[in-house]
Amino acid sequence: MARSPEEEHPQKAFGWAARDNSGTLSPFNFSRRDNGEDDVTIKILYCGVCHSDLHSAKNDWGFTSYPVVPGHEIVGAVTAVGNNVNKFKVDDKVGVGVLVDSCKKCDCCHQGLENYCPQMIFTYNSFSSDGMKTYGGYSDIIVVDQNYVLRIPDNMPLDAGAPLLCAGITVYSPMVYYGMNQPGKHLGVAGLGGLGHVAVKIGKAFGLKVTVISTSPKKESEAIDRLGADSFLVSTDPAKFKAAIGTMDYIIDTIAAVHALAPLLSLLNINGKLVTVGLPEKPLELPIFPLVIGRRLIGGSNVGGIKETQEMLDFCSKHNITADIELIRIDELNEAMERLAKSDVRYRFVIDVGNSLSK
Ligand SMILES: [Zn+2]
Ligand SMILES: [Zn+2]
Repeated sequence: MARSPEEEHPQKAFGWAARDNSGTLSPFNFSRRDNGEDDVTIKILYCGVCHSDLHSAKNDWGFTSYPVVPGHEIVGAVTAVGNNVNKFKVDDKVGVGVLVDSCKKCDCCHQGLENYCPQMIFTYNSFSSDGMKTYGGYSDIIVVDQNYVLRIPDNMPLDAGAPLLCAGITVYSPMVYYGMNQPGKHLGVAGLGGLGHVAVKIGKAFGLKVTVISTSPKKESEAIDRLGADSFLVSTDPAKFKAAIGTMDYIIDTIAAVHALAPLLSLLNINGKLVTVGLPEKPLELPIFPLVIGRRLIGGSNVGGIKETQEMLDFCSKHNITADIELIRIDELNEAMERLAKSDVRYRFVIDVGNSLSK
């Protein structure tokens, strides 16, 4: 008979888990593996609340294995290192993002694209090569192979830096890969949530002109005054929308709900690129005419590899980029999830795990 999550491994662990598709999270005793030769054990201090955590807690994508402990924007301090660990020492401030392991043998892994390895292991709701389930960062400790651990730059606040580990790399990686980072070009950021607000900041740091595309006119002053966008386009204002047609070189589409691509594509200039990083639950309709007629491109992207994630953290550190966060106690998590479902957050909840998680 399978052992209970509490008895599977030698290290006791404690976190908050969802048990069913109500998505309600509650205290959960489980365990972590012993710190192996290549491992670091991390005391978790902060963990961001990503939209994927909500989807997973509620089984919106249909592949949640309960109980699930979400959380993949993890920042903490190293408490133990294995004999082979040379990248980190005890007390180092470190981060863990969306993935905690991969095969280390395939072409993707050799190119630093662990995030596309067919055997990539997600930080939670995944099964490691020995069949053990992974549990995420809404918990007190985590044990991770040093090769999947990030260094948090000295000047980066640990709480506001945490969301960069998913939201930050999710928008940074496609901007670099698709060449959407040439200074002076015009970037549209569709959707102003956890991903979108970081995309605005990273876009400005690349030297781009940045326009936020949103359905919500009340976000205009925040987008411009607080986040540094150059302009704001209300997608429901026909006159303004018409004036913006064909003006953008790139669009990063962070919208997680089902939405029409045709209006966004119409904003692109010839050779424009639109990259989708939100994950709507149903397929979107793909209009072919604007792609063919304007030699436009639609692409996708899934977080980033470990090397690139470190590059992103160092880039954000250099440009003083962090997420705008609302720091919460873990006992405020269910309320935060309800607000997140309504996009009522400016712009990322981060759990103060170190100061609020206790049995
Ligand atoms: Zn995420
Ligand atoms: Zn691989």
